[in-house]
Amino acid sequence: MAKTKRGRILWSMPSRGRGTCPVCSTTRIKLLYIANKSDGTALKVCKRCQNADQSRVDAAIV
Ligand SMILES: [Zn+2]
Repeated sequence: MAKTKRGRILWSMPSRGRGTCPVCSTTRIKLLYIANKSDGTALKVCKRCQNADQSRVDAAIV
């Protein structure tokens, strides 16, 4: 499987894979992980938030 979280692949992504994490509000961090809200919305979150509590994900402002 191709590496999707490091290297040149990031340059093909919107904003080069970076943005503001909706869960922890860290800016310009790499958003490479998907977290699903309780209502089914998929959020892109940072590495630090990949294992965040569901309550924190649900509280995120998209
Ligand atoms: Zn985060």
